[in-house]
Amino acid sequence: MTRYIFITGGVVSSLGKGLGAAALGALLQARGFKVRLRKLDPYLNVDPGTMSPTQHGEVFVTDDGAETDLDLGHYERFTGVSARKSDNVTTGRIYSNVIARERRGDYLGATVQVIPHITDAIKEFIRSDVTDEDFIVCEVGGTVGDIESLPFLEAIRQFGNEVGIENALFLHVTLLPYIPAAGELKTKPTQHSVKELLSVGIQPQMLLCRADRPIPDNERRKIALFCNIRPERVIAALDVDTIYNVPISYHEEGFDDQVLAYFGIGQDKAPDLSRWTGIVQRVRQPEGEVTIGVVGKYTSLIDSYKSLAEALTHGGIANNIKVKLDWMDSQIFESEDAVSHLEHVHGILVPGGFGERGAEGKIRAAQFARERKVPYFGICFGMQMAVIEAARHMAGLPAANSTEFGPTNEPVVGLMTEWTRGNALETRKTDGDLGGTMRLGAYPAALVPGSRVAGIYGATEISERHRHRYEVNINYRERLEQAGLFFSGLSPDGVLPEIVELPDHPWFIGVQYHPELKSKPFDPHPLFTDFIRAAIEQSRLV
Ligand code: GLN
Repeated sequence: MTRYIFITGGVVSSLGKGLGAAALGALLQARGFKVRLRKLDPYLNVDPGTMSPTQHGEVFVTDDGAETDLDLGHYERFTGVSARKSDNVTTGRIYSNVIARERRGDYLGATVQVIPHITDAIKEFIRSDVTDEDFIVCEVGGTVGDIESLPFLEAIRQFGNEVGIENALFLHVTLLPYIPAAGELKTKPTQHSVKELLSVGIQPQMLLCRADRPIPDNERRKIALFCNIRPERVIAALDVDTIYNVPISYHEEGFDDQVLAYFGIGQDKAPDLSRWTGIVQRVRQPEGEVTIGVVGKYTSLIDSYKSLAEALTHGGIANNIKVKLDWMDSQIFESEDAVSHLEHVHGILVPGGFGERGAEGKIRAAQFARERKVPYFGICFGMQMAVIEAARHMAGLPAANSTEFGPTNEPVVGLMTEWTRGNALETRKTDGDLGGTMRLGAYPAALVPGSRVAGIYGATEISERHRHRYEVNINYRERLEQAGLFFSGLSPDGVLPEIVELPDHPWFIGVQYHPELKSKPFDPHPLFTDFIRAAIEQSRLV
């Protein structure tokens, strides 16, 4: 039987609800349960694909090609369960589906309304694609009190009533601010937030209270009294030194015990948290440190490269080393000498990106890495820029460029409007919608036996997630290979370059896909593990 846990947030945003949901998933898993995590996002975009990463953080891509909220990345990294299209929905998607049905006449003349039509569509989504999961943990984005989250709150209220309160748990995440003048953690914002939830008919049965210090008994009792919640179900979510300590810390506060007790599930054994204690120990006691320069464009918001930062940390965990990230806006290299900014780093990573701004700076960073033999990892846009650099400076094509920036005589990177997925041909219009029209999701690649990447993966057939519109132009392969840039991975039909590498370099790899999306702390991605290993070697040289 599947039980549902609904997670809402109150008081302020950025409380780490997503992380809390992910940690709960990990704890339930460690008890032997099968879990799935989902996110309901109240904004009007159909998906986050068209949103700027500096506004909403990174777009997390699933194997089945959905562009989703970055919280799904936390879910995957903490549980290892691959997220699917059916794990994230937005107001925009719900409304566009309901309106499409209305246009088809599916509502048989009824007046289409928020209740019941929108709420029904939300409930349908929550129930969909559920098989033998023991728990569905469903996070509602935004903060209680926002106008746009109302239909979602109404839908989960109805849902709880339908499946029965013994099968649904409402968990509310709040903040207990510490006021130094009073010397106290304050409970009033939490009380107000719970009132807000009550006003839409939801009585939370459990609270997860973010606080920077333990909750004294007095305050806990006060919250319990005013919010109509048992004191033992007021769980402290204390600040931690590494996010991978969250499952351990929440377990120590009784989180998973209380969740199971709520559902009447008896457990005599403690969960096996050795996976997490091992990771935390490695994070806390590294044997050294390397610095990686991340040369990007969206460096103003750290969340815009969330999975990337995590994957680099995982590479560090695998090597027992601390990875220090030096975020650099690539545009600085366009007016200043790249050398002075990059001299101290042990590895250079150019991540995914869109648009011309800062592109020349990224090309300079790739050139610096190639010439100075500093490990270079180019991801998606970072691969494309490395190929343009190689074309310009190794293959004698000074006009080499990407058609993403306008017409060019040497389209070394160009727009693809047709490609195959398995046996099916996929096509895109050049002037079509921007949303959901890229090459998205998992695609296989064939690696050249004996190449560096084949060695790193220990395989010649791989599958990785994509999110891009442009491709390295296969017609330049011969010319570039003669100049020394090796095409070591291609789509199985040999048309789309997936990986390039410089054999004559300590570590220079560009990949068209996003390996960071599949890295996990307990299963670091081999490319990140090997990149950090190369950076460690580099650190011994400088
Ligand atoms: N802008 C490039 C493209 O669309 C790269 C995209 C990316 O880095 N994710 O192909």
